[in-house]
Amino acid sequence: MGRIGIFLDRDGTINVEVDYLTSPKDLHLIPGAADAVREANGLDAVVCVVTNQAGIARGLLSEERLAEIHAALREELAKHGAHIDAFYYCPHHPTLGEPPYRSDCDCRKPGPGMINAAVKEFGIDPKRSFVVGDRLLDVGLANAVGATSILVRTGYGSTELSRPIPEGVKIDYVAKDLYDAIQFVKRMIQHD
Ligand SMILES: [Mg+2]
Ligand SMILES: [Zn+2]
Repeated sequence: MGRIGIFLDRDGTINVEVDYLTSPKDLHLIPGAADAVREANGLDAVVCVVTNQAGIARGLLSEERLAEIHAALREELAKHGAHIDAFYYCPHHPTLGEPPYRSDCDCRKPGPGMINAAVKEFGIDPKRSFVVGDRLLDVGLANAVGATSILVRTGYGSTELSRPIPEGVKIDYVAKDLYDAIQFVKRMIQHD
């Protein structure tokens, strides 16, 4: 049986949404997020970040700068005894920037590319897995791979919920925040 993956969106889910995070100094964790990641680490699961970073295609930040931001995020989480097993990001945009970043890739959420990569790397079973995010594209990603979808109300979550949910988009659980989302994951895994 494949392993359980817990795929976390970054902006608006782990850290405060600032509309293109381009500097580690603007990284601020959402209250309870580090505790949530630490509790997720205590489960028999692989905890990954999956984040669209079209700011790279748009020329707003470099991959080196993104690596600095992720190093800062690791450091913040480590203060709470929490860690991310792997970071996946999509640097592409279908129409903006220059190749190779201007690309009709399959890793831009809701495309399944980032989860497919994690499935290969860690032997994850997507159907036993969870995707947590604040946008319907995170829900779409979960739906695309057959994972359980959790929409958090932080970040853009409340705004997304204030609009009609498009046909075919299946939200399995609406969570107050990442901490609440991980409590739901724990209940689901215990009943598995
Ligand atoms: Mg987000
Ligand atoms: Zn991509």
